[in-house]
Amino acid sequence: MDYELDIKENALDSFNEALEKFEQGENGNPKSYKFAILHASHFLELILKIYIISVDENLVFSKCYRHVAKKAKEERISILEAFEKIRAENFDLKTLIASDSSPHTITLDQALEFAKCEKCSITNIDFVDTEFCRDIEWIKGLRNNIEHFQFKLEPKEVRLCIGRLVRSVIEFLEIFSLMDLESEIGKDRFHIFEMLADEYTQLLREATREVKEQESQIFRGIRPKHYAFVEWNVYSCPECNNDTMVPYRESSTGYRCTFCKNEESGEIEVPCDCCGARSPSDAMDTWPMDDGSIEYRCYFCSGQHQADKDD
Ligand SMILES: [Zn+2]
Ligand SMILES: [Zn+2]
Repeated sequence: MDYELDIKENALDSFNEALEKFEQGENGNPKSYKFAILHASHFLELILKIYIISVDENLVFSKCYRHVAKKAKEERISILEAFEKIRAENFDLKTLIASDSSPHTITLDQALEFAKCEKCSITNIDFVDTEFCRDIEWIKGLRNNIEHFQFKLEPKEVRLCIGRLVRSVIEFLEIFSLMDLESEIGKDRFHIFEMLADEYTQLLREATREVKEQESQIFRGIRPKHYAFVEWNVYSCPECNNDTMVPYRESSTGYRCTFCKNEESGEIEVPCDCCGARSPSDAMDTWPMDDGSIEYRCYFCSGQHQADKDD
């Protein structure tokens, strides 16, 4: 099918483009970094579409995908199961787009949703792991920031960003045997990305180890039945989407990400300034004080609870 060839060519173009922009950035043109990341994330998106096409060439079109998603919802089955049912019934998805000369294609989320249903037939383990999903969430946020806000990244951060992107793509390509990237783009080019991917993996490993070490230190000598009284949590970092936010004494929020050093998250529990009950800061009402500081009020102390009752 032509579309499949097109999309593969586009994907490789994006990849090569990403590399070119990255090299321009490395050679002292920092503006190019932004485009390197955008091209690399476009590449990832196209790879997910190539995966969908490998399942069924029509499924990449929104109309067909929605048809399958609707059946999944109606019958309360996974989208993959719904697709298999439709196929078993010999329904040709193509008929849904026959009158459409340039049908819309699916989004990154839709493609991922489908891929998430795939399990290994022998071990029954999900093919797409949570780490991959976290990477995708992070990429979406990053892309949104790059497109809509002033954005400045240090070269080191760019290397890590691209490394993370490429790492997830290489893994995805391997799991579903979609393409041999190395032979497609050449050994030298591939090696540059491989290096960046390794750099990222290495740093993440260190950040994760730091979390584990802190955890074992905190709980050392404490009886398991008292674990619940220990004020120690690991939060998912909203900046890098890794589960690497742990208590840190010098942080203003009390927490810091061991990977990206971010200290802010709406999930961090804070005490209510009236009654002392702890809740995620996002769920708290904030009250401005005369001196410019803010106070947290929980659901009950903010009057919200009474207002809901009156409704
Ligand atoms: Zn982080
Ligand atoms: Zn309260």
